[in-house]
Amino acid sequence: MSNWDHEVDVVVLGTGGAGLTAALTAAASGAEVAVYEKSSTVGGTTAVSGGIAWIPAHNRAAAGELTVDDAMKYLRAQSLGAMDTALVETFVRTGPKMLDFLEAHSALQFEVAEGFPDYKPELPGGQPGGGRSMHAKPVNLDELGNWRDRITSFPADFSNVGIDAETRARIHAAVDDMDGDYCVAGTALIAGLLRGLLDLGVTPVTKARARELYSTDGRITGVRITVGDMDIRVGARRGVILATGGFEWDDELVDAFLRGPMHGPVSPPNNTGDGLRMAMAHGAELANMGEAWWVPIVQIPGDTFEGKPRSRSVRLERTRPRSIIVNRAGKRFLNEAGEYNSMAGPFHHLDPKLGYLNDPAWIVFDSLHMKKYGFLGVEPGSEALDWFCQSATLEELETKTGISAAGLAETLAAWNTNVADEIDPDFGRGSSAYDAYWGDAAGASPALKTLGPIDTAPYFAVPVTVGAMGTKGGPRTDRDGAVRHVDGSVIPGLYAAGNAMAGVTGKAYGGAGGTLGPAMVFGYRAGYAAATGESAS
Ligand SMILES: Cc1cc2nc3c(=O)[nH]c(=O)nc-3n(C[C@H](O)[C@H](O)[C@H](O)COP(=O)(O)OP(=O)(O)OC[C@H]3O[C@@H](n4cnc5c(N)ncnc54)[C@H](O)[C@@H]3O)c2cc1C
Repeated sequence: MSNWDHEVDVVVLGTGGAGLTAALTAAASGAEVAVYEKSSTVGGTTAVSGGIAWIPAHNRAAAGELTVDDAMKYLRAQSLGAMDTALVETFVRTGPKMLDFLEAHSALQFEVAEGFPDYKPELPGGQPGGGRSMHAKPVNLDELGNWRDRITSFPADFSNVGIDAETRARIHAAVDDMDGDYCVAGTALIAGLLRGLLDLGVTPVTKARARELYSTDGRITGVRITVGDMDIRVGARRGVILATGGFEWDDELVDAFLRGPMHGPVSPPNNTGDGLRMAMAHGAELANMGEAWWVPIVQIPGDTFEGKPRSRSVRLERTRPRSIIVNRAGKRFLNEAGEYNSMAGPFHHLDPKLGYLNDPAWIVFDSLHMKKYGFLGVEPGSEALDWFCQSATLEELETKTGISAAGLAETLAAWNTNVADEIDPDFGRGSSAYDAYWGDAAGASPALKTLGPIDTAPYFAVPVTVGAMGTKGGPRTDRDGAVRHVDGSVIPGLYAAGNAMAGVTGKAYGGAGGTLGPAMVFGYRAGYAAATGESAS
């Protein structure tokens, strides 16, 4: 194919953490780059995220060097044998170089999110005291010109992790003293990358949805893109990088591939597997397709974003004392304060006769929880919302929710006895350094930051189920993000990064930033390889 409407060296599709890192790297490495984004704003899921990148081996931590050996040991233990060892090692070794490169070529500066434990910190090689989770320092939006209002955002409410009071107090407290319109979290990550890209003369094109890849003799040479209501053909002399996110918003792909129910994505609704379908059409080999970055969610009745049902991840509500999660039988089935990604396992528990025993489930809490902490944006001490199923007795709660009152009474009796002893013998809640992190900071012991009795009526129950921050499967790649063909060769000219590629860590989620760390590393490697034809060191 020739007669392109536009032709550059490298075409990048998608403007999340993976796409902007790839574009910046390619442009800073000397390539002429074009970036296309389906949405009217840039940043994708990354922009509404915590913006933390998990970089497991580096020498920026106050406590000293974090080694490759420890990182590999930890990821091996966490992934239950399902990771791609060679690519994981590439990720681990490249992490610090990616940070250095971005700092040298953009407005970004990274720092350790102090004290943020790994997600399974007691495993071999784990870091209970943190050190591996890195976040962007605040970025001044005033320096972005017209682009300052063109970064994807959710409404500024309680579950917006970039601004919620807890996150801000723990990770971004310094920003309040800064002079200027400084943003934090995912917004800062995207703002910093975007600023770097604009400075290099690359302007992303929004409302531009990539539809189809063109090839000549097996080499990917360009893309058809719908911009507004026009189709354009863009040639890519050196490569096309798919950074179009996952397929969590495409019901057909979700039903076809994910390993169990996924009731709602918490990402903005543009990730419909476009990159996956484009790569499949050219023979890409796929991997890790059953996996997602799982997270427990609640759905507020009538809540929508851009016309689609909105799901919210729950974190503080399940971690603070005086709340537990139970199934229809009134039984607990997991450590409520544990890391969210592993919770999919218990939610997906399948009884051969009775189906999914734990899906849906409920967060049950008492009036003292409501009074002290509030719930889902309802301020402490305020009236509960109707759909919180406020009930004077467990029998009334059964009538409203179907949760067995007898089963729940038994669970609460055992729970209250155990928490008086500061233990959870059933699921170990409060026994990991991670469990306490999002709990009640005033708790007198690590366990008491998350354990508390549920004994003071009225009782409440809110439905909770399993959703995803994004999917984890896609085209299998080599260490440079080059997409593999099902015949074992590489598809020349085609790269993938982020949730658009087969996630290298299998089921694992190393720590806060466990998705953006690899996404940005492989974005960096793909951008460099596409631009130069060589592997990043
Ligand atoms: C509330 C929340 C908090 C989170 N916090 C963290 C965190 O702190 N750390 C962490 O590691 N992870 C976090 N995650 C997960 C993380 O945000 C995602 O896994 C990550 O952002 C994925 O990056 P990406 O670049 O692959 O995709 P995205 O950031 O989703 O970007 C994909 C982009 O591609 C665009 N696109 C899609 N199709 C096309 C097409 N056909 N043509 C052109 N463009 C297209 C989309 O519109 C989107 O802009 C969080 C997620 C959520 C929802």
